Amino acid sequence: MITKGNFLLLESSEFFGWLQQQKITRTITRLQVHHTWLPNYATRKNQDHFKCLEGIRNTHLANGWNGTGQNITVFEDGKIAISLDRNLNTVPAGIKGANTGALCVETIGNFDISGDTMTDLQRQAVLHLYACLAIKLNIPVDTNHIVYHAWYTPAGDWLGDYIQGRSSKTCPGTNFFGHGNTRLAASRGFIPGIQAEVQRIKNGDEEAMTATEKKQMDDLKATVDAQTKWIEGEKAKANMSCPSWAKSAYEFYKPYISDSTGSYDFWRKLVIDYRKENGIKVQ
Ligand SMILES: [Zn+2]
Repeated sequence: MITKGNFLLLESSEFFGWLQQQKITRTITRLQVHHTWLPNYATRKNQDHFKCLEGIRNTHLANGWNGTGQNITVFEDGKIAISLDRNLNTVPAGIKGANTGALCVETIGNFDISGDTMTDLQRQAVLHLYACLAIKLNIPVDTNHIVYHAWYTPAGDWLGDYIQGRSSKTCPGTNFFGHGNTRLAASRGFIPGIQAEVQRIKNGDEEAMTATEKKQMDDLKATVDAQTKWIEGEKAKANMSCPSWAKSAYEFYKPYISDSTGSYDFWRKLVIDYRKENGIKVQ
């Protein structure tokens, strides 16, 4: 969690905890879905997160807005930024004419067809973010409450779907989440992912490991167990009491031995010495 300039940058895993601490003082009933188009994955290469955010802010200020348009930004690496000049309790500048009662989330990238392919990290962070917001703000996870920019006209009237020529923009992209920007695309390719994430969080699996992580943990545990067993075996071999096959040798040399335990090699050597001393040949 880093604060710098006009933004707070969080790991996706820090977001729910942070959100639970926030006091929401305005009514929020809708979560807007946007892509930035610019910046996109190409302009983001090797660019500092805060530099990107301040760049967006400067563009928005140049529009004559009084701060960063969006409340929240999701990066391609899954990091989440909160606009400190447009905190959750401030009405965003996301969809002209339709911002009251809404929260604006920008996903970094161009998700129009033949644009960027969303990374898994960003995909997970986006689903997680909307799930956390839905829980915190008690917002139903459906296409009436989680809304694409494209479902509005340029004047901010509700179209209820992407209609080419009538929608204000293609935002969040004609290939958003690999499905597109229509209402049907959202119901099939986006909303179910948020619903599943809501369930996962509510079931207390917030910190749950992925299947891959679990396999790695199990493998590691098996390796450690095997090593522990081997070390214990070695320890036992290093300090054993007289084994049955060395009994005669032990009895013979007992007056010269101060200790009743010894290593496996010690007992073997004792037996060989005993045989030599007493002319006992193995064959
Ligand atoms: Zn938009």
